[in-house]
Amino acid sequence: MPRRNWAGNVRYAAHQFHRPDTVDELRRLVAGSDRIRAVGTGHSFNRLGDTGGDLVSLAGLPPSVRLDPQRRTVTVPAAMRYGDLATFLHEQGYALANLASLPHISVAGAVATGTHGSGPTIGNLATAVAGLELVTADGDLLTVDRSSDSFAGMVVGLGALGVVTRLTLDVVPTFDLRQYVRLDLPREALDAAFDSAYSVSVFTDWRTPRLREVWRKQRADQLPPPADWLGTTAADRPRHPVPGMPAENCTAQLGEPGPWHERLPHFRLGFTPSSGEELQSEYHLPRAAAAEALAALDEVAHLIAPVLQVCELRTVAADDLWLSPNQGRDSLAVHFTWVADAAAVLPVVAAMEERLAPFAPRPHWGKVFGLAPDAVAATYPRYADFTALLRRLDPHAKFHTDLLAHYLPR
Ligand SMILES: Cc1cc2nc3c(=O)[nH]c(=O)nc-3n(C[C@H](O)[C@H](O)[C@H](O)COP(=O)(O)OP(=O)(O)OC[C@H]3O[C@@H](n4cnc5c(N)ncnc54)[C@H](O)[C@@H]3O)c2cc1C
Repeated sequence: MPRRNWAGNVRYAAHQFHRPDTVDELRRLVAGSDRIRAVGTGHSFNRLGDTGGDLVSLAGLPPSVRLDPQRRTVTVPAAMRYGDLATFLHEQGYALANLASLPHISVAGAVATGTHGSGPTIGNLATAVAGLELVTADGDLLTVDRSSDSFAGMVVGLGALGVVTRLTLDVVPTFDLRQYVRLDLPREALDAAFDSAYSVSVFTDWRTPRLREVWRKQRADQLPPPADWLGTTAADRPRHPVPGMPAENCTAQLGEPGPWHERLPHFRLGFTPSSGEELQSEYHLPRAAAAEALAALDEVAHLIAPVLQVCELRTVAADDLWLSPNQGRDSLAVHFTWVADAAAVLPVVAAMEERLAPFAPRPHWGKVFGLAPDAVAATYPRYADFTALLRRLDPHAKFHTDLLAHYLPR
C-alpha cells in the first residue's frame, strides 16, 4: 500500500497501514482504533484523507459487483476504480451518466469528495449514488438509501462519517459519443459552447483572452460542429490538454465514435493521466456568474500563467447533497493544474481566492485550497446540519483529521 498520494506532495502520517480481506475484519479494525481513515487510490492533493492513526485501504475486500436491471442500479465495492466498473457496465449494456477526467480513481474516494466531470445537465459523480453501506465508528454496518434520513448529508461525506464499503449507483443504457477538439474559442461564446453537447470541457492558459481548446463530447448521432463553429477552428490531430504531453494518453478524438467510458474521461486507463508532476486546485462558482468570475481572474492572470500547466473550465448541474460543491446551484468549475512547486503555487492560490471571494467559491474538497473556514461554511446552507451529523455518527472524532478539524470544527 503506497505511503504517499498519487502526486507525491502528501506523505501519509499514519502509524499503521491496513488492508483487510473481509468486512468483518474491517469492522473489528474500526471498532478497535482511536483514529482511522480510509484511503482510495490516493488521487487527492491535500491532507483530507490523512490521519496520524490507522489508514485503511479497502482494495482487499471481495470485488463482487451486482447489477440490478429492474432498479437500474449497480452495487460496487468501495475501492473499485471507475475504469473497471465502466468496462463491466458497458459489457452488460449499461453506463454511468458521467465520469471524471480520469478512470483511475476509486468510486468511494471520488464520491466522498464530490468529484465531477462536465455537462450542462449532468450532476457530479456523487449524484448517481442511490445507496451506501458503511462501517461506523463503533464498528457497526449501516446501510442507507435515498429514503433514509440524512442520506443527502452522507454521500459527499469527506470520509468523516465512516468507512464506506459498498455503493449503489444509478445506471443508464450504454451510449456512444464522439469527441471533437476545437481551437481558440472567444470568451463570449463560452456559454454557448458548454450548452452545445452532452459534456464539454474548455482548456486555457491565461496567456490570452481566447480559450485555447474546447473538448466537445457529443452524442454520436448529433451532427458534428460546422467548420466555423462559434468562431473556432478544428484541431487537425489528437491533443493532450497539457502542452507537450503525448496525445496517446488521451481518449480518441477527431469525431471517432466510441462508447461513453472511452470518450467521457480525457485520459485512458493504463496511461498516466494529466502530466503526473503537478498540484491541482479547483473552485465551483455559480454558473450564472461565469463571465464576471473569469473577468476577476483576469486581474491575476499574470500571476497564474507562470505556474500553470493548464486550466480547465467545466459545468456541473445543481444537486441537493449537503456538502456537494454543486449543492443548490448550477456550477462553473474552474480547475488549475499547477506546476509541482507548492512554494510558488500557494501565493497564487491565495491571490486567486481573494478575487473569487465575491462569487462564493466552493473548493474541490480533494484539491489544494486555502479559503478561510467561515468563508467555505457560508456557501453551504446545510453546513451546520453536516456537523450535527458528524457529532452523531462519530461522537469521538475517530474519523477526524487536521484538515477536517479546521474546516468542520465540532
Ligand atoms: C490526474 C488527476 C485528475 C483528476 N481529475 C478530476 C476530475 O476530472 N474531476 C474531479 O472532480 N476531480 C478530479 N481529480 C481529483 C480526484 O478525483 C479526487 O481527489 C478523488 O477524491 C480521488 O479519488 P481517490 O479514490 O483517489 O480518493 P483518495 O484521494 O484516496 O481519498 C479521497 C477522500 O475520500 C475518502 N475515502 C476514500 N475511500 C473511502 C471509503 N471507502 N470510505 C470513506 N471515505 C473514503 C478519503 O478518506 C479521503 O478523504 C483528479 C485528480 C488527479 C490526480
